[in-house]
Amino acid sequence: MDLSLDRAMAERLERARELGRNEVRPVGLEADREGRPIPVDHPYFKRCLERGEGRTRWSGPDGKAEGGARRERSTVDALLLAEEMAYWDRGVGVANPGPGLPEANVLSAGTPEQKLRFLGPFLEPDRPRWACFAMTEPGAGSDAAAIATRARRDGNTWVLDGSKCFIGNASRADWILVQATVDPERGRAGQRAFFVESGTPGLSNFKIEKKSGLKAYESTSFSLEECRVPADNLLGGEPRAKGNREGFKAAMRTFNAGRPVIAANAVGIGRALLDESLTFAREHGLLGKTRVRDRIEAMRRRLRAARLLCLQAGHLADQKQPNIVEASLSKAMAAAVGQEAATFGMELLGTVGARGDHLIEKLYRDVKAMDIVEGTGQIQRMIVARTLLGLPR
Ligand SMILES: Cc1cc2nc3c(=O)[nH]c(=O)nc-3n(C[C@H](O)[C@H](O)[C@H](O)COP(=O)(O)OP(=O)(O)OC[C@H]3O[C@@H](n4cnc5c(N)ncnc54)[C@H](O)[C@@H]3O)c2cc1C
Repeated sequence: MDLSLDRAMAERLERARELGRNEVRPVGLEADREGRPIPVDHPYFKRCLERGEGRTRWSGPDGKAEGGARRERSTVDALLLAEEMAYWDRGVGVANPGPGLPEANVLSAGTPEQKLRFLGPFLEPDRPRWACFAMTEPGAGSDAAAIATRARRDGNTWVLDGSKCFIGNASRADWILVQATVDPERGRAGQRAFFVESGTPGLSNFKIEKKSGLKAYESTSFSLEECRVPADNLLGGEPRAKGNREGFKAAMRTFNAGRPVIAANAVGIGRALLDESLTFAREHGLLGKTRVRDRIEAMRRRLRAARLLCLQAGHLADQKQPNIVEASLSKAMAAAVGQEAATFGMELLGTVGARGDHLIEKLYRDVKAMDIVEGTGQIQRMIVARTLLGLPR
């Protein structure tokens, strides 16, 4: 695994660092202080578009749009950028406009017409646009096979009924890729994904959840009541999804691809915690204490190990090699290390941490979600164990 950076990537990281320092960290702190997601009309989002962000990786109907070049960026490069962004503010990274989590799903399973309809507006967006992926429900989180949102065919439409919760960017999204079941008796095999456009009658009751950290982006619950979408809104179209587990597998592929990204985010937050802890320890004369020095060394060692695991998962993806074990290991380990770094930072702060206005205290609240999203630590460890033992996942 070659970890050397070419010049273009080194420059990209340097630009990301500068942007993080000047824009991302301040807007993240502002959202945290005000306790609300960055508003849709915040000038930060306008500047994102001006910098060329918020666009799809799709290369357009004729294959010539710039997106193709973005797609060719290696997974390892994407992970390094994800780590850097999270170093400055992971919540702002998720708040950034763009087709987000479901884009990979649409690129791999969407029909040409669906790519044009749903990714087309992200080629040259005229305004900040978002999309999101809705799997989790009040009664189905880790056990994604248990989702109860129903999809029923009625002539040329699908009718959706159910509710979703904790969905990133849902109330501002142009469309939501909703995971639903056509037959709960069939478990995973009954699952399909549907594009539900903003403003569709029956898509309602958006409620931004209260979150302890990552306040810069909204996590939102909503309901679907007799929500009717055209038959063409079934991801991949009818023939591809019929009679197989493609709907569920596509969702699992999205999560598998996302796990090293969350691991990279956790490493980024962990690095920020280490830097802030060092600064605090230096300013308060704590570096002379052996116990403090030992823990700083342990944090650096474990963060570095987590980072290598994460990059290995990305490297395997770039080589088109299976990486399920590495993706899960990296997420399980990085989220745990990030949380350890946060606990250490809070211990160093003492009463300063209890006041709730130090950056370490914010990062302590932010990093917890890295253990929850896209499969909790327990679930990652179960995936690894089952894969190693050759049991069905
Ligand atoms: C900030 C944030 C953003 C999110 N964004 C999205 C999003 O954009 N889209 C989306 O669809 N979802 C999103 N989620 C939801 C997230 O994916 C779920 O919270 C996660 O899957 C866990 O589900 P749960 O909260 O229902 O916990 P549960 O599934 O109820 O788990 C509770 C606890 O039990 C453990 N547990 C559960 N099953 C087992 C088992 N079989 N063996 C051992 N332990 C087990 C879990 O590890 C956990 O510790 C988000 C959540 C958060 C916190």
